[in-house]
Amino acid sequence: MYMITEQKPLDEVLRQMEREQAIYVLGCGTCPAACHTGGKPEVQDMAERLSQAGKTVSGWMVAPTACDDSTGQALRREAAVLGQADCVLVMACGYGVQTVVRHTDMPVYPALNTLFLGREGAPREFVELCLQCGSCLLGLTAGVCPITACAKSLVNGPCGGYRDGKCEVHPQRDCAWSLIYRRLEALGQKEKLRSIPYLKDHSKFCHPRHVTLG
Ligand code: SF4
Ligand code: SF4
Repeated sequence: MYMITEQKPLDEVLRQMEREQAIYVLGCGTCPAACHTGGKPEVQDMAERLSQAGKTVSGWMVAPTACDDSTGQALRREAAVLGQADCVLVMACGYGVQTVVRHTDMPVYPALNTLFLGREGAPREFVELCLQCGSCLLGLTAGVCPITACAKSLVNGPCGGYRDGKCEVHPQRDCAWSLIYRRLEALGQKEKLRSIPYLKDHSKFCHPRHVTLG
């Protein structure tokens, strides 16, 4: 399971840092490395492209897991080099960027867009399976997630745009509710369609979420 990211276009990265000349680049050796968006090769490539764009790269590192608090210790070890930089460019997900923000008073900028939490299928192909809605319905929907697999996150059956088992928003994809119906039928559990709550409890889906467990 990885936090899936994509690189921002270089123009956008540079626009964020138009006031800064000297840049420290920080990558992440976990999810961005797996996505090939912020591991060592991509950090070195970014440093090269920033130099070509006229910026000074004061230094760089690839934190083992940028969203981990060990990143704070790594930044403290780099204090002398960071002191020569005007800002930190983080090649990690939004969690990684905000972890760096917690550990420095310098301006911090994201180099990546955070897309979703997903798993890898074919190499370099990632798929989203769960939107962490806070009240899981998979036990009633034959293990197919209506919140994630349906383009409209409908919890009470297909929309009017459903055609021949395909989704109106993504016609190349199966309608989530067609998948749910077929799988419930195969399991002999079609009666579960009557138990699915007609309305979703969105109170558990409000942001920012914060929970104390145990
Ligand atoms: S219903 Fe879907 S989005 Fe909600 S917790 Fe279950 S798998 Fe995740
Ligand atoms: S066609 Fe099916 S998957 Fe697509 S938006 Fe409508 S209910 Fe959801």
